Amino acid sequence: MSTSTGSAAAAGQKADCLFCRIARGEIASRKIYEDDDIVAFHDINPAAPVHFLIVPRVHVENLYDADLKYQALLGRMLGVAGQLAREQGANDGFRLVINNGRVGRQEVYHLHAHVLGGPSPLGSGFNRL
Ligand code: 5GP
Ligand code: ZN
Repeated sequence: MSTSTGSAAAAGQKADCLFCRIARGEIASRKIYEDDDIVAFHDINPAAPVHFLIVPRVHVENLYDADLKYQALLGRMLGVAGQLAREQGANDGFRLVINNGRVGRQEVYHLHAHVLGGPSPLGSGFNRL
């Protein structure tokens, strides 16, 4: 096992996971917030004028793996969403989406909350995001 793989695992991260690597700063992203537990950055392929992702630094695949021991972390992810949405210009409402697994059409298997908004109401219904 390489040193970087070992230190990633020690920090609860996965060496080759895209969002773990973004959280570690190994892959560039447009970050808008970070603290010891979570990172928020703009989605590379925005589905709305405001579209950013909030991810935990620790590698958790999705909500199937986030049991009650993660409640503080999950609360933190939700707890920054409103303020960050406002700061990004979504100040008249936003949508928060977490896709889980195949049926949820999750593409990146590192837990993330999408925050979507903009000046106009988003499409209604259960869209892709
Ligand atoms: P999911 O379908 O898993 O809920 O959403 C994954 C999201 O990650 C997609 O909206 C996609 O555009 C975004 N994404 C995929 N790769 C990258 C990347 O390298 N950088 C950033 N910033 N976003 C990414
Ligand atoms: Zn990860």
